[in-house]
Amino acid sequence: MHDVIIIGAGPAGLAAAFWCEELGLDTLLLEQDERPGGQLLQVYNPINNYPGLRAANGQEFFERAFSSRIDEADFDLWTEVEIESVNVKAKRVSLRSGEQLQTIALVLATGVSRRRLGIPGEAEFRGRGIIESATRDRDLFSGQDVCVIGGGDAAAENALLLAEVCPTVTLVHRGRKLSARREFLEQLQTNHCLTIFTESIVTRILGDEKVEAVEISRKEGLKPFQMAVRGVLIRIGVDPNTQLVREQLQLDNNGYVIVNSIHETIIPNVFAIGDVSNPVGPTISGACGAAATVAKAIASRISRSK
Ligand SMILES: Cc1cc2nc3c(=O)[nH]c(=O)nc-3n(C[C@H](O)[C@H](O)[C@H](O)COP(=O)(O)OP(=O)(O)OC[C@H]3O[C@@H](n4cnc5c(N)ncnc54)[C@H](O)[C@@H]3O)c2cc1C
Repeated sequence: MHDVIIIGAGPAGLAAAFWCEELGLDTLLLEQDERPGGQLLQVYNPINNYPGLRAANGQEFFERAFSSRIDEADFDLWTEVEIESVNVKAKRVSLRSGEQLQTIALVLATGVSRRRLGIPGEAEFRGRGIIESATRDRDLFSGQDVCVIGGGDAAAENALLLAEVCPTVTLVHRGRKLSARREFLEQLQTNHCLTIFTESIVTRILGDEKVEAVEISRKEGLKPFQMAVRGVLIRIGVDPNTQLVREQLQLDNNGYVIVNSIHETIIPNVFAIGDVSNPVGPTISGACGAAATVAKAIASRISRSK
């Protein structure tokens, strides 16, 4: 029996584990990937908005904020863990290996994942023309025509970065209007390398060894057409990772876990922290703040009951 099991070792889960350890709680942190860090490992832009710590990218932030603490930590961190199911009422976590884990408090810190289009070519061309990040991959696509899919801030920002080095950037958005902030919209409209297709969807990514074209479908009834591109960057939003608890907790219309002011769900002693329960302001500082609140709440309940 553990005092606390935390699922997910991104900033929220790691910060919660550090706090729980400091408060003397027997803590187990479970991570599905081979290493902790969560989304930080996909951040290629500088991080300048965490109080007291600036970093050139997410990897550097992870190393400076978390890495050395993990090496010294007293809590258990299990990576590459496959969780079969979670029973939130019983506070039981069943692993695919057959192991059953029992805890007094359960903390869900599973974050969000990039939404996928689910179209032919999207998975097949990963690493062969699918652009992960304009900041990271810009030089690789310099001088090539590219397509960006999406209409929010992330899509606009990436399109503008690519337009600095690519002869043409085509932004394809399924809605009537882009939802990116005004500052980006103004830059998009005045950039001569950029073409914007609204009310349009990319239906296929085509190529032989590498990406060679996209198929775009504009208004209903019109024939889809193909456009030659060498790179495709997809930014169509994120989905909260709630697969394990979807039927057991209260979620909002977008699938985020609903919590109260101490980040507790509708089930006592089951908490959700970080992006998985924060649709409004997903940030590292928000995730770490929620982690501290939850650890303190759990510690005070456990010390009272002992
Ligand atoms: C490109 C980019 C730039 C960003 N820039 C900034 C910035 O400048 N400043 C800022 O404050 N924030 C920034 N963010 C946001 C910040 O990275 C997130 O708010 C933060 O990582 C959220 O932490 P989290 O722990 O809640 O979730 P995540 O980082 O998503 O971590 C969740 C972890 O849970 C694991 N997990 C999921 N499901 C399971 C499961 N079933 N079993 C076990 N483990 C599981 C995942 O593998 C992952 O490791 C940026 C994000 C991106 C993508």
